[in-house]
Amino acid sequence: MAEWETIQGWLAEAERVVVLTGAGISAESGVPTFRGAGGLWRQHRPEDLATPEAFARGPRLVWEWYDWRRARVAKAEPNPGHLALAQLERRVPDFTLITQNVDGLHQRAGSQRVLKLHGDIWTLHCLGCGLEETNHDVPLREIPPRCSCGGLFRPGVIWFGEALPADVLRHAMEAAAHAQVFLVVGTSAVVQPAASLPLLAQQNGAKLVEINLEETPLSAQADASFWGKAGELLPRLLEAAVKP
Ligand code: NAD
Ligand code: ZN
Repeated sequence: MAEWETIQGWLAEAERVVVLTGAGISAESGVPTFRGAGGLWRQHRPEDLATPEAFARGPRLVWEWYDWRRARVAKAEPNPGHLALAQLERRVPDFTLITQNVDGLHQRAGSQRVLKLHGDIWTLHCLGCGLEETNHDVPLREIPPRCSCGGLFRPGVIWFGEALPADVLRHAMEAAAHAQVFLVVGTSAVVQPAASLPLLAQQNGAKLVEINLEETPLSAQADASFWGKAGELLPRLLEAAVKP
């Protein structure tokens, strides 16, 4: 297990860095994770709502949940963890941020190049004509929302059991395979295929570093794991790397 100072050094010297974030990085901004405390909504488990089957059964219920989540995200602000990653991007010549989050907080923190593996809570996708529309209405004017073609909109996110956008996944895999340091922050590392990216990176020579509140399936493999809040640990870990 490598020491804190050693990892700070890797991050300060690396020219190719990839970061993978999950719901944990936004928890301190007040956006609940799916599996942690505060994950339930009206007694429903998120895993039972974020599926194509749930939407087919009841688009209204699923949209009410998204409307509630959109309102929470709209009130949230990026935290020091998001901000530290945006700073890191400015210092590292070849930097890729891969996120499983749909909240847009990385972009609001100033991150420019973000690979969104699971889509975006502010995008609507028409099931009738295929239109993709950005929509920031909080609350939504109509639930479920409808397209001008008359078709039903669905949230522009990837649900459990759905395939990831092929081009985004390909970019993420390419970046992972070339990384010198691969940093995993606030993800339970159980949702595939995102969970395999860190191992792909490590197999190709990257140092694998993890930040989480608790042990994950990746911890045994990682070159270093730090337990604690991303908003506190990330700015400290990246201190040397983001120094002008
Ligand atoms: P998850 O809910 O499965 O796991 C969150 C992980 O973050 C856990 O391992 C937990 O220990 C850790 N964590 C919690 N608070 C933390 C903190 N302050 N600092 C560091 N780590 C912390 O989330 P997931 O692995 O990202 O997967 C669930 C899926 O749900 C994702 O694919 C995503 O699309 C979706 N989701 C997105 C958001 C969002 O956009 N903010 C929120 C919830 C779920
Ligand atoms: Zn349409």
